[in-house]
Amino acid sequence: MKQTFDINKLVRPNIAALKPYSSARDEFTSNGSKLVFLDANENPIETGINRYPDPQQKKLKQRLSEIKNIPSEKILLGNGSDEVLDLIYRAFCEPGSDNVITLPPTYGMYNVLAGINNIESREVMLSEDFQPRVKEIFEEIDNNTKLIFLCSPNNPTGNSFDEDKMTELVENFKGLVIIDEAYIDFSENASWIEKLEKYPNLIITQTLSKAFGMAGIRLGICYASKDVIKILNSIKPPYNINELTQNRAQFKLHNLAEINREVSDILIERKLLLEALLEVDFIEKIFKSDANFLLMRVDDATKRYNQLIEKGIVIRNRTTQPLCENTLRITVGTSEENKKLINVLKQLSANK
Ligand SMILES: *Cc1c(COP(=O)(O)O)cnc(C)c1O
Repeated sequence: MKQTFDINKLVRPNIAALKPYSSARDEFTSNGSKLVFLDANENPIETGINRYPDPQQKKLKQRLSEIKNIPSEKILLGNGSDEVLDLIYRAFCEPGSDNVITLPPTYGMYNVLAGINNIESREVMLSEDFQPRVKEIFEEIDNNTKLIFLCSPNNPTGNSFDEDKMTELVENFKGLVIIDEAYIDFSENASWIEKLEKYPNLIITQTLSKAFGMAGIRLGICYASKDVIKILNSIKPPYNINELTQNRAQFKLHNLAEINREVSDILIERKLLLEALLEVDFIEKIFKSDANFLLMRVDDATKRYNQLIEKGIVIRNRTTQPLCENTLRITVGTSEENKKLINVLKQLSANK
């Protein structure tokens, strides 16, 4: 960055002044030695879950640190990325006066969280080819603009944002840029994690909900500078990641071969699905995807959506989203599920 970046100028004053809640397990944790814990009013009968979970999730972060090649102090975990995003709003945006930039059509949660936190969301539509319009974004920025949300690969469009455009934003915006990489493992592009060192105003979010196949355990991951992580840590609920989640996540993260196999299977299925969809005559366009879903434009999205529901197949109708008129979003399923979808689409196509 050209200007020196000072996170203390961005954080809300009440958050900077906060004395975080200190939980029993924060003050004293076992280092493997046998200790008698009579400090947290837990039930002493061992069941594997009778104790409070580690509030700092040390083992899980250690594993992520090894996999992602980044120090644990630059990692924060949340109850899904949604909690991470909410913490970012609450740490840096003053309700009623600050604003953020979002780029529709994109992930709906950014605006929902803006609404909950009483923060103005300034929407700068993506271009026709679903890329950020950098000049227009800078025109919307003022002294109260704290955050810009970039979702890449983007949901619901599936494409990745242009690297040069993202760089221009990160290098010239004085607030924080959040890059939501929920779908990065399906993309050929590298994660921005490797650029954290260079850009202190960068926050990257990832999740175990998509490629890692663990939407049910709710684990979102935030990578940022130590200073940003320290601030977010000071406001997170002490036990936000439960014991079952910490254990299951660690187990899965020790089986990277399985995860890689699943991702490459999904990518093969995505290709097969795309090829089959090209044969369906009411599908007018299928957008290029770097994610585990395909966005396609059809003759009449609502009609086709309802027809699929009748056949027991649930997809997402995105027709009300800006730039997404008559589009449907389809998640890549198993081979069998995709075949069923294709068969139904071909039937509908024959019947008109
Ligand atoms: C699915 C998705 C997430 C995941 O949210 P979790 O709360 O971690 O399940 C985050 N961002 C985008 C853009 C998504 O599509």
